[in-house]
Amino acid sequence: SESPRLISTATGDYDTSHTPEVRQYLKTYGLVPPAVQSFEVQAERCLKLLAMKTTPIEKFQYLVHLKATNVHLFYRLLAENIKELTPLIYTPTVGEACVRWHEIFTQPEGMYLSYSDRGNLRQILNNWPQNVEMTVITDGSRILGLGDLGVNGMGIPVGKLALYTACAGIRPDATLPLTIDLGTSNKALREDPLYMGSRTPKVSADEEREFLDELMEALTDRWPGIVIQFEDFKNPFPAIERYQNKYTMFNDDVQGTGAVIVGGFINAVKASGVPAKDHRAVFLGAGSAGVGVAKQIVEYFIKEGIPEEEARKKFWFVDSNGLVTLDRGDKLAEHKVYFARDDNNGRQYQSLARLIDYVQPTILMGLSTIGGAFNRDILTKMAQINDRPVIFPLSNPSSKSECTFEEAVRHTEGRCLFASGSPFPSIEFGGKLLTPGQGNNMYVFPGIGLGAIISKATNVTQDMIYASAESLSTSLNEQEIADGWLYPDIRRIREVSVVVTRGVIRAAQKNGVDRVPELRTLSDEKLDAYIKERMYDPFNDKEHISEELAQLMATASG
Ligand code: NAP
Ligand code: MN
Repeated sequence: SESPRLISTATGDYDTSHTPEVRQYLKTYGLVPPAVQSFEVQAERCLKLLAMKTTPIEKFQYLVHLKATNVHLFYRLLAENIKELTPLIYTPTVGEACVRWHEIFTQPEGMYLSYSDRGNLRQILNNWPQNVEMTVITDGSRILGLGDLGVNGMGIPVGKLALYTACAGIRPDATLPLTIDLGTSNKALREDPLYMGSRTPKVSADEEREFLDELMEALTDRWPGIVIQFEDFKNPFPAIERYQNKYTMFNDDVQGTGAVIVGGFINAVKASGVPAKDHRAVFLGAGSAGVGVAKQIVEYFIKEGIPEEEARKKFWFVDSNGLVTLDRGDKLAEHKVYFARDDNNGRQYQSLARLIDYVQPTILMGLSTIGGAFNRDILTKMAQINDRPVIFPLSNPSSKSECTFEEAVRHTEGRCLFASGSPFPSIEFGGKLLTPGQGNNMYVFPGIGLGAIISKATNVTQDMIYASAESLSTSLNEQEIADGWLYPDIRRIREVSVVVTRGVIRAAQKNGVDRVPELRTLSDEKLDAYIKERMYDPFNDKEHISEELAQLMATASG
């Protein structure tokens, strides 16, 4: 009789931690070096190999290789070194990898669907051999801050899904990185002989919409219950609006970013000692990220009992043309209209410093991509106005951050409540070790995805997104709170993701978009246990193990 399928496809079978008995069972005996090596020993080799690579891109390539050849080992390594390895599999290294994707490509990961494939998308999806619970999809048109990179953008869905697996235990074999090839506005790439996408300009917005309509339906038909995350689209808003009530989808650049900032922001407002109703916020930068963040802060204010009209008026946005007002005589981009001031005098506040004098804000947010914009003068003003000024320079990478942590601490006498988009080191100030918060989307998107998967949500509602923020704000442990942190230690990300996932599931239930009624009656404790049970554990993957093998492995370790 045929023996049942074993550990995992072409990956974990050859793990050198297997005992001779397990190797015999797997028929890999003799195909693997003789010594049985624990994860610790294997990890030591991996880390030494990584250290031998001199550039981040070489380290990236090594990790791609490791993932392709031993997926469990890759995720074990990532779980134990999440802080150190994330910059190599995601930002900033993935940015360089995408820029050079056509040069460094070795093997396909994920799916590519081109504009010329329209009409056949459903059929092409059949070529993907596995069941999919989660996909990340990009058109490559705005990769990080690097512009339109066409199908080179594939690095983003690949990297992001690795984080879904590492942080929330979404099964690696149930993830689908997906890049749609709708042409690219990047002429240099189009003319590069190594480029691997269509050599045509980007299709029109109408053509893109038609293509996406077909794709969304095809994905959901092929894999009912699939969660679809949009990433790095140049103009993310039309798809969110069109699909969020029809499919299980969200856009992390807009919704995840908003949520993670709000998570830290809730803790900052609490620590500021100023009641929610008395806050005023100046935003430098009114792009999709800035407006997305502010919209969710409005929601927080509303939940704190402030009427929407009043909450909306707590924001002053500055873009490259100065204060965003209704009467400044340019045609405002649609997403800016909601926060545009109509009570101005706006044009006279051309400089950020003058606007701060006028508004007397408690909160200063930077999503402008203008490094150093929060200079000494600005920071000093914030410290004069507030006991605990809330200062969030959120632009990435660190060279574009509106100020560094050290500058913010120095110019506010250590009183600021700080979170940035990029990491900054802790510093000593006044005999204390101060640690900056980092508003890293990794705190929320894995839990949003897992919560939607587990509850089989028909949609990712705004309440589910908001719940991810609120849950994140409650996920700090006693030590983190005592140390004045706004975000939990990223090394505890799997624990944090359980809390976020639970909040997302509860919100899905409240909205009635969940399709697993049994979970509604579970206590929080039981629901947490259920979530943990569902999470892929690279140290103990039970999914693809026959009973006989499970016994063999248990005997060996016992
Ligand atoms: P974006 O669409 O390019 O928006 C940039 C905004 O800054 C625009 O409103 C732009 O004005 C404005 N701006 C440019 N130069 C300015 C100047 N000299 N003075 C004032 N405003 C100026 O980019 P985005 O997608 O919103 O992202 C913005 C930043 O947020 C990026 O650095 C990104 O890395 C960061 N971000 C952080 C996180 C995070 O921390 N988790 C997540 C997402 C994004 P116009 O509108 O007039 O062009
Ligand atoms: Mn992004």
